[in-house]
Amino acid sequence: MRTKRTFQKVERHIPTLHFSSHVTDKRGNRRFSRADSVMVVCLMLDVDGVLVDGRPSDGLRWDHDLRQDMAIPTDALAEEFFKTEWNDIVIGKKALLPTLANALKRIAPAVQVEDLITYWFEMDSRIVEPVLADIRAARRDGIPVYLATNQEHLRAAYLMTSMGLSDEVDGIIYSAKAGSKKPQPEFFRFAGEFTGRQPHELLLVDDTIPNIRAAQSEGWNAVHWDGTEDLHTILRRSIEH
Ligand SMILES: [Mg+2]
Repeated sequence: MRTKRTFQKVERHIPTLHFSSHVTDKRGNRRFSRADSVMVVCLMLDVDGVLVDGRPSDGLRWDHDLRQDMAIPTDALAEEFFKTEWNDIVIGKKALLPTLANALKRIAPAVQVEDLITYWFEMDSRIVEPVLADIRAARRDGIPVYLATNQEHLRAAYLMTSMGLSDEVDGIIYSAKAGSKKPQPEFFRFAGEFTGRQPHELLLVDDTIPNIRAAQSEGWNAVHWDGTEDLHTILRRSIEH
């Protein structure tokens, strides 16, 4: 029922996009494009490494100074938490707060879990302004934009609420809610159902190659984000061809 309601809500907000009926090829001949009739594109945007990129001050990894700032050994955190627990957390099988608290008891018992989470999220919140500007332009042009991202519940909420991204996008599809993560095919199927779009109407922009390949295997359009093209250029090309 929830998915259906979301579909109906989203559907009302997605305009039908009409594009010019011709494109011009390299020899100057006008040709009919695939957009000849009607084509709708829905942008599915990766978050980390695309729209959000590291520390606000310098873009470095959030944990670059974790050892100095909070006296937490980063190698132990990797071994005791990220390698063993993160997969279950990011697909929603375990909750971040109690699981991280248990790890901290072993590796840094003086640190409060809430303090670490606050530090982590704040140090991983640099908005890539040109990407945000292109999201705003795309939505002004009637293109729906969703975040499609591997996140657990707390950071997904932080992105949308504390960082204000709920004002900038049409919604978020994230792994802990989906019960699967990119590049698992189930994630892409969940995202398609969530938006009410057909696979060929969806365009993933993501900085991780396996996610691009998985999206394409599911029938999506997908463009690898490698910093060589801006989002506006990618969207123009994907819509008009
Ligand atoms: Mg990424």
